[in-house]
Amino acid sequence: MCGIVGYVGQKKALPILLNSLKALEYRGYDSAGIAYIKDKDIHIIKKQGKIKNLEQSLSIDEDTYMGIGHTRWATHGIPNEINAHPHKVGKITLVHNGIIENYEELRQELVKDGYTFKGETDTEVVAALIDKIYQKKHDMLKTLDKVTNKLEGTYAFGIICEDYPDTIYAIRKDSPLIIGVKDKDYFIASDVPAILNYTREYYLLEQGEVAVLNNTCTFYMKGQEINKELKSFEGDSSSVSKNGYDHFMMKEMMEEPDVLHKTVHHMKEESFTFMNYQSIDIVACGSAYHTGLVGKYLIEQYADIPVNVEVASEYRYKKFFPKKNHLVIVISQSGETADTLAALKLAKENNLDTLGIVNVKESSIAREADRVIYTMAGPEIAVATTKAYLAQVTTLSLLALKTAYEKNLMKKDEYEEILHSFDVGAVKIGKLLNKDYEKQAKKIYKKNDLFYLGRGLDYALAMEGSLKLKEISYLHSEAYASGELKHGTISLVEDGTPVISVMIDDHIRSKSVSNNKEVRARGGYVIAISNTELPNDSYDDLILIPQINDFVNPIMALIPMQMISYYVAKMRGCDIDKPKNLAKSVTVE
Ligand code: GLU
Repeated sequence: MCGIVGYVGQKKALPILLNSLKALEYRGYDSAGIAYIKDKDIHIIKKQGKIKNLEQSLSIDEDTYMGIGHTRWATHGIPNEINAHPHKVGKITLVHNGIIENYEELRQELVKDGYTFKGETDTEVVAALIDKIYQKKHDMLKTLDKVTNKLEGTYAFGIICEDYPDTIYAIRKDSPLIIGVKDKDYFIASDVPAILNYTREYYLLEQGEVAVLNNTCTFYMKGQEINKELKSFEGDSSSVSKNGYDHFMMKEMMEEPDVLHKTVHHMKEESFTFMNYQSIDIVACGSAYHTGLVGKYLIEQYADIPVNVEVASEYRYKKFFPKKNHLVIVISQSGETADTLAALKLAKENNLDTLGIVNVKESSIAREADRVIYTMAGPEIAVATTKAYLAQVTTLSLLALKTAYEKNLMKKDEYEEILHSFDVGAVKIGKLLNKDYEKQAKKIYKKNDLFYLGRGLDYALAMEGSLKLKEISYLHSEAYASGELKHGTISLVEDGTPVISVMIDDHIRSKSVSNNKEVRARGGYVIAISNTELPNDSYDDLILIPQINDFVNPIMALIPMQMISYYVAKMRGCDIDKPKNLAKSVTVE
């Protein structure tokens, strides 16, 4: 969620740390801080709010060649300056991403030992714990090994010990951390964009490993030095810049035709299908959960396999029943979503086959799942997902299609025609992206509430449309199954209440037409998203999208929903790429 960065090398550290923190801004945060060493002394500067507040309090040209930095997404303690990282206790200064679950017990023990705490974070407790153990062992490697045995929860830490002012130590468990390398310059970071201005070469730190960075970079496992494979970022660095667009979100939506092409191409090569499975669970959070709902519809309808879709934070605490020929699919853009990762581990403990659908290569879920299919969205920076969501839906849609064909539930010509229609879809998406959605946004942006309606597949899509709108525009929006609105919520519809009705499912469109009329009769302003003309009295505004087939239509419907959300957020003056309180990679439970 937050970002960790660190640098030790030949260059002045503060510009690098600041730059790297800015590259991680997309992950979401509420305060920021930096610790650096100058003349062997540690200096800590932290500020609430945006990185620019921190920047204003730094002398950027300071003679320092090493330091660690952090953007915090508060989990324990309010987002103020005291709780912001880095935290220093005794000889130890550190930054942390994650949650320490047993911090309360550890804190009580440490208080008995005479430690006092300035703030409320779980992180400060770990700084004290490391200090306590280090004071006894006087050896950082032994100390960190011992510390990891005592911590419960998730973490990535960047650590400085006063006795070794030229060294950064790093450890992790279930939160990501990479080590970048360029000649005699070494970096730590939560994600690759943070280091791309300096290097493309990096190591992935694994659980249980300790990285030691000074004038060289060494890795240890249980006290023994180990060799690791150096990786290279192969993406295009322009993928982490806005390329002239005002926002990453707009740039990423504009990439959607290309993402669709790439995903289809990738899936044509993919041999995996659901052929051997009799039932499927799809487990995910947020938008990825909505992907699962679209997938359920297509897999059940065409591949004839029952699918259960669950939110990961619920699934991970449910009772498991032994099942044969059952597959658990976990979906996550970042591949680090804490609840989804926990659900995956649980499924594996219960001996179920697992498939990860993730966007970030070699992320934790990609490495843990029995099998992984990568979505071809490329780096997604805006917190609100657009192109990665499209790639997830396309991936599940193609898996449903390929399984249907393999099970002989679909003839070869039909299969090939549908496969080809995805390319047609990519061209049509390009046209949809260039339509004007400001007209609809103007009708919505001053309102307090909005309802999204849909049935079946349309309901799954409506849920994503509604989430997209509220996450970036802060306008209250709810998605309802069209038939359910009249069981209570319709009492909230008044003159001018905007209602977006998704109507791409041919089989049940006539029912949704009636529901639109019910809403209009109570003064609601209905914006219909449909792939055929509708009776005039069933909408106030009609957004017509192309009619292709059940596999490609859902992808078409996403575009107006994403675009309307974008323009509403823009008209309301919101920080579109970095909505308040949200984080891109949700690495806490
Ligand atoms: N749990 C820590 C805190 O609340 C770290 C949160 C984060 O990952 O930013 O300070």
